[in-house]
Amino acid sequence: MPSYTAPLKDYQFVLHDLLKVSEQDVPGYADLDRDFTGAVLEEAGKISSDVLSPLNVVGDTEGCVLENGVVRTPTGFKAAFDQVREGGWTGMDVPEQYGGQGLPYIMHTAAQEPMVSANMAFNMYQGLTHGALSAILAHGSDAQKDMYAPKLASCEWTGTMNLTEPHCGTDLGLMRTKAVPQDDGSFKVSGQKIFISAGDHDMAENIIHLVLAKIPGGPDGIKGVSLFIVPKIIVNEDGSLGDRNGVSVGKIEEKMGIHGNSTCVMNYDEATGYLIGEEHKGMRAMFVMMNEARLGVGLQGYAQSEVAYQNAVAYAKDRLQGRAVTGVQNPDGPADPLIVHPDIRRNLMDQKSFNEGARAFTFWGASLLDRAHQNSDKDAEGLVSLMTPVIKGFLTDKGFEYAVAAQQVYGGHGYIEEWGMSQFARDARIAMIYEGANGVQALDLVGRKLAIDGGKHLMGFFEMVKSFIKENEGNEALKKDFLDPLKAARKDMQAAAMYFMGSMKNPNNALSGSYDFMHLMGHVCLGYMWARMGKAAMEALDGGASDTDFLNTKIATGRYYMARQLPSTALHLARINTGADTVMALEAANF
Ligand SMILES: Cc1cc2nc3c(=O)[nH]c(=O)nc-3n(C[C@H](O)[C@H](O)[C@H](O)COP(=O)(O)OP(=O)(O)OC[C@H]3O[C@@H](n4cnc5c(N)ncnc54)[C@H](O)[C@@H]3O)c2cc1C
Repeated sequence: MPSYTAPLKDYQFVLHDLLKVSEQDVPGYADLDRDFTGAVLEEAGKISSDVLSPLNVVGDTEGCVLENGVVRTPTGFKAAFDQVREGGWTGMDVPEQYGGQGLPYIMHTAAQEPMVSANMAFNMYQGLTHGALSAILAHGSDAQKDMYAPKLASCEWTGTMNLTEPHCGTDLGLMRTKAVPQDDGSFKVSGQKIFISAGDHDMAENIIHLVLAKIPGGPDGIKGVSLFIVPKIIVNEDGSLGDRNGVSVGKIEEKMGIHGNSTCVMNYDEATGYLIGEEHKGMRAMFVMMNEARLGVGLQGYAQSEVAYQNAVAYAKDRLQGRAVTGVQNPDGPADPLIVHPDIRRNLMDQKSFNEGARAFTFWGASLLDRAHQNSDKDAEGLVSLMTPVIKGFLTDKGFEYAVAAQQVYGGHGYIEEWGMSQFARDARIAMIYEGANGVQALDLVGRKLAIDGGKHLMGFFEMVKSFIKENEGNEALKKDFLDPLKAARKDMQAAAMYFMGSMKNPNNALSGSYDFMHLMGHVCLGYMWARMGKAAMEALDGGASDTDFLNTKIATGRYYMARQLPSTALHLARINTGADTVMALEAANF
């Protein structure tokens, strides 16, 4: 059975040595000192290891079952959900007036990581609740906030997001679900949504579905989509629960992974719904949920890679096979442990250097979101919006790749369910698909985000990396191993961006390279994080920090990333520069 331990030291390193949160001029950050964040994250780690992790395999093997129209979750989920609820984990960053703790979003992000590593399927019930709550807080009326926010923040009620229909997932303009206005100001929502995560379950007394639908007579396509609150059980004006709404579960999908999460076909049959925000502006409201959700899905990607890595390391130290090429390491045993072999090391270093870089990137993204929301900082908002498809697409692609790489350390035992490694890979796979498939993230990045505000945020990022390199060029310890590779990677990214600007006449050229660009940019972002972490670790050592082992390991891991991973940017650039000719050469009939 796999195990999991939250990497608490690394959370603290990223929050304090890298991001220096308590020095940042963002409301609430001054209170985030080492003791406070350490205590909160230790608790998050404890519930993750002790309660959620043991239920991961249970969720995978039992799955969810639809019984008499209600979904039954796997054994132990309900009791664990009660514990999560009692711990107040979902509403951590929700304003106190709605029953939350009013902490910054970065704390929510950091506390989510161990829970997602420990049990991704389980955590989606509260993850979607948090997303629904954010959309209501951002776009709901005061009355809607008062009615729904406290119950969602406490997780007494849970939330869902309903976009996908049988004939449309990416192209939501094709949506057919309709919402007909009623005399009392409410709407009757009818239609079918599919693949709805946490669509139904037995762990909360009500479920608040956020549903995209079209009001008849509105504009065609995506411009005619509005967002509605559709409760499973209607909430009376005094807050008590009333009649059952016209919402039912058609079936639960059988799927490759995240079996512990109920993925439901939801049927809306003249269900009572309440408009959130303005008519036909549903996508804008849903985007609040989607941007946050995309950061959360990026986190899912590397969090699965992290737990898979932890188990692969334990196995590599334990399993005896062959002898080290440079001489016997375990003379008393029949063979040396796997970890002596360079190819196993390469594999583990790939995983480790990705996980730690991805964590830094995600926490940095969360700090930009805090800055954007709490300080109304438009530059931070633009930058995080540019980064969002990269966080989602790159971290989930790589997260899956490294969950598979961790499986490889186990040889055949990685493929056998008994060891639990296949679940990490199967669970990680969905993160590349939902919240906008990764190809569409790349399209969003190259087709839309690069040019936003006249390319200001892209230029801002180039400038940020350039300034960092320039400011630190005199630092010999940093220059060769960190700054020079970063400089080369940044140059590749700039050349790719220039290529796209010159290829506007043939958009196929740009879009044939969009996936490579998402990965190229992902590497530059992680390279930038690693250069900053290398510097932070060196400074901590110079300052006499006691945990020299951790800090030296950090620097060595960073050197690995810069030497062995970051040069991938050159390959991505070379592919981008070939344009669309070979990609689009065949007629559809020739495939
Ligand atoms: C387990 C699971 C849970 C889910 N949870 C939810 C949920 O809670 N709520 C919800 O609303 N949905 C949910 N989804 C749906 C998910 O978000 C969609 O499946 C996803 O967005 C892709 O839509 P699609 O399946 O219709 O694929 P399509 O839109 O048909 O796309 C198919 C492929 O074509 C590519 N593609 C599409 N358009 C373009 C284009 N213009 N250019 C280039 N490539 C393109 C895509 O990248 C993809 O690879 C879930 C799905 C699963 C499997």
